[in-house]
Amino acid sequence: MPADFDDPDYDYAASIAGRAMRSMAEQRIPSTPSNFAIWFQYFAGDHDDLRNAVDLLIDHNRPFDSRTNQDLFETYIAPQVSAAVAADTSERLHAVMGAAKEFLTTAIADNRSQMQVISQVADQGKAGVDPKALVAQLMNELARAATRATRLEAGFAEKTRELDVIRDSLSRSEERARTDTLTGLANRRALDEFLRKAQTTAEWGEPLSVLLLDIDHFKTFNDNFGHGVGDQVLRLMAKVLREKVRTQDLPARYGGEELIAVLPDADLATCAELAERIRYAIAECTITRRSTGETLPSITVSIGVAQYRAGEAATDLIERCDRALYLAKGGGRNRVVTEVELERAGAAG
Ligand code: GH3
Ligand code: MG
Ligand code: MG
Repeated sequence: MPADFDDPDYDYAASIAGRAMRSMAEQRIPSTPSNFAIWFQYFAGDHDDLRNAVDLLIDHNRPFDSRTNQDLFETYIAPQVSAAVAADTSERLHAVMGAAKEFLTTAIADNRSQMQVISQVADQGKAGVDPKALVAQLMNELARAATRATRLEAGFAEKTRELDVIRDSLSRSEERARTDTLTGLANRRALDEFLRKAQTTAEWGEPLSVLLLDIDHFKTFNDNFGHGVGDQVLRLMAKVLREKVRTQDLPARYGGEELIAVLPDADLATCAELAERIRYAIAECTITRRSTGETLPSITVSIGVAQYRAGEAATDLIERCDRALYLAKGGGRNRVVTEVELERAGAAG
């Protein structure tokens, strides 16, 4: 639909969009759709929680890095989008249900009137009316009933198709709400849910391990080759992670350039082995710049690995992974460190 340039809403939206774009450029925030949504809402000023959160970050001089932007989007924007989709879906469902109810009412009324006609014909039969005339009357009534039933059936079929469309759009929007847009991996929300369920099973005695992966010197890579190429690399890391984990595992984007995988029914050694295979596969990847075909320096990752301890919070488990990862960075990067080495390092320190 063409924009109505005289519409005051259009002018207002355009001025907010302009302020959002300028502010993002000043703060060097990549102009992705989700970042734009955050800053548009911020300047539109009708989302108090988002405004307070952003103001707080500004007051504390916190940079709007990818991780912060992603958290802001998932906390304040994504739920709004889901709510709008849900409201729209509920309206469409209501319309389909209304139509289905009407069809049923018509079908019931039709049945009733047909029964009436048939019983009248039967009465006439008893009263000795010409059987040929009765048969003709009955056939007439049945033909009419068949036509109406066919019409009703077509109506039902159409409503069923509409229901199919609604069901598909619901499952797509559910999928979108759980997926990270850049990498296609599970997002934080899906990760939290998965961890919660996996934790319950782990309380019954099955092992559960987690690996946390962070790209080495990624800032320098971005500075040298641009954020777009950086994004391409991040997608490649996600692809490797997805290919290497087992079907029962959940690979996810933890934030920024940190990816994570939750491995139910895997002990520390199994998880460390998988982490090592991932690290190796990434180091072996050849990265080519799409625009020029030029081969770029290889990328390495550091990985921290930890196993769940019964009764602990998921945040404690991830925090241990994070500390192991930090040790891997300190130890020279491009390596896997488990919590066992972390404990050893703690005991030695
Ligand atoms: P280290 O080896 O210690 O991890 O060094 P680093 O430079 O990777 O670490 P640091 O945390 O200083 O920087 C992380 C960088 O990752 C900063 C940011 O530019 C980049 N980054 C985070 N998220 C994204 C993203 O979505 N896309 C791109 N292209 N870069 C990202
Ligand atoms: Mg990092
Ligand atoms: Mg890094």
